[in-house]
Amino acid sequence: MTASVKIDIAEDTILVGIAASPGIAISRSHLVNRARMSVVERRISPAEVGPEIVAFKDAVDRSKAQLLAVQAKIDNPELTEHLYIIDTHLLILEDEMLIGETIALIREDLINAEGALNRVLRKLRRMFDSLSDEYLRERRSDVDSIGDRLMRNLLGETRETLTNMEDQVIIVAHDLSPADTVQMDKSKIVGFVTNVGGRTSHTAILARSLGIPAVVGLETVTSLVPGNLPMIIDGSSGTVILKPSAETFREYLEKKQRYEYQELELLKFQDLSSVTIDGCELALRGNIDFIDEIPSARELGAQGIGLFRTEFLFMSGEGPPSEDDQYAIYRSAVEQMAPFPVTIRTLDVGGDKFVPEFNLDDEVNPAMGLRAVRFSLKEVNLFRAQLRAILRASAHGPVRVMFPMISGVAELRACKLFWEKARQELEAEGVAFNAGIKVGVMIETPAAVLIADLLAKEVDFFSVGTNDLIQYCLAIDRSNEHVAYLYEPMHPAVLRALQRVCEAADAADIEIGMCGEMAGEELYSLVLIALGFRELSMNASNISRVKRIMRQIELSEVRKILDGLMALSTSEEVVAALESEMFGRYPHIFDPSKI
Ligand code: PEP
Ligand code: MG
Repeated sequence: MTASVKIDIAEDTILVGIAASPGIAISRSHLVNRARMSVVERRISPAEVGPEIVAFKDAVDRSKAQLLAVQAKIDNPELTEHLYIIDTHLLILEDEMLIGETIALIREDLINAEGALNRVLRKLRRMFDSLSDEYLRERRSDVDSIGDRLMRNLLGETRETLTNMEDQVIIVAHDLSPADTVQMDKSKIVGFVTNVGGRTSHTAILARSLGIPAVVGLETVTSLVPGNLPMIIDGSSGTVILKPSAETFREYLEKKQRYEYQELELLKFQDLSSVTIDGCELALRGNIDFIDEIPSARELGAQGIGLFRTEFLFMSGEGPPSEDDQYAIYRSAVEQMAPFPVTIRTLDVGGDKFVPEFNLDDEVNPAMGLRAVRFSLKEVNLFRAQLRAILRASAHGPVRVMFPMISGVAELRACKLFWEKARQELEAEGVAFNAGIKVGVMIETPAAVLIADLLAKEVDFFSVGTNDLIQYCLAIDRSNEHVAYLYEPMHPAVLRALQRVCEAADAADIEIGMCGEMAGEELYSLVLIALGFRELSMNASNISRVKRIMRQIELSEVRKILDGLMALSTSEEVVAALESEMFGRYPHIFDPSKI
């Protein structure tokens, strides 16, 4: 965490970060302090024993009161599972081993309360990890969760949430999790800036879907900016201006108007077809993180949902949604989107999408850890509930299911086995579902690229997730601002990987689409159609932008350009050649004033 020393800020101080979500926000800063919990163990004097025990008991009482308050709010019968979890947590708070041993360590070994609690929690975790009974072993997550709550209460820490802001503000934070972004009230939070993050980190992706301008990767913004400072953020260029002068203020007000005007002009394209001059038809679909994005995705011209990121349903803080909850959501998505298909991706938690209840945040290397289907194949009850919910929703309109982060055929087959079991169960129960539902995989690991021919034999479609594929292919963390400059969609390694996947899909005659962020970048989308992608799924606000270009080019021309690009050695060369070819052939399309 950066130090909180603030320095005098001159008028019009400019900071440059990573453009994470377009648009301009002009407001005052709201500094969010999110220090990591740090536990310090120390020896205490006998005189401190009494007060330390009282502090610990207070923390236990506060934790109980919080849990009871959460429990009291749950009146939905479908959330009874969650009530049981809270009951378990309340029972743990009575547990002799947790409470008695902590007090004994304070009293007998003269260790301060947080140090003692920390020791006992470590011992309990080790104990749970060594159990052979899978069910009991899984209860470790309850111990983690209650231990975390207890420790926070003991340290007097509260996590500031981003709900209930009183005025319109720009959030300034070290980091924001996707769960934080989900909670943002757009009428109050008009933009945010962070020290860390990259363009394809999930916090940035969410900001784009919510239409909140954002600049990330500013490294030291929290140590420069105090609360309540007038500031401007330009999420399209990655610029932040602190203490804007009257002139700068006017300039950005104008830019904001121009941006909003262009966005409105682009709406003209929403009902037009996406077809190139020489007749190549494309399916432009929307990526969504929440069900309530569907009406606007439809309005913006999405022909279906190419990626429904279901993990955000698990980030409400109220525990995992039940099968019935999920069924209701997927069914509503399908009904709202019909006759176009909705591609539901199974849970992709882990990496930068941590769900506190799942306790995945202490992994050393989360991007390569227990993510996506690896998690689902371990938490099989959650997986089963999700697959059943997806199948049940398929009775109400076209649905496709898609497995994320597949790195081998065996893993895919394991997922398909659960899928098959869910189908058999529903059939035996007489519950309706569509037997012809298409099954696909995300191609987002280098392994999946290399074995695309083998994977193609097992599925109906591929959807390439370049956000992760680029991360793993080029070995750069998609959320790390220090290596963001290496995140290059036009890197020859990425282009070759994409070409290989297209060839495998073509040879097996299966559908091939892309749902990584790159699909929504106008210039790159041209390369993608030349490579053979016919379905591009993107943040719906980009659909008109991409469509506008597609309608004015010939695929045959773009294919010629691609041949030249594939022979180049660096990303810079590829981008320069692509720009000069396209701007040369179609100057009218790329002039922003012509939109
Ligand atoms: C991707 O990796 O490209 C993708 C679409 O999935 P996510 O961004 O959710 O990891
Ligand atoms: Mg991914």
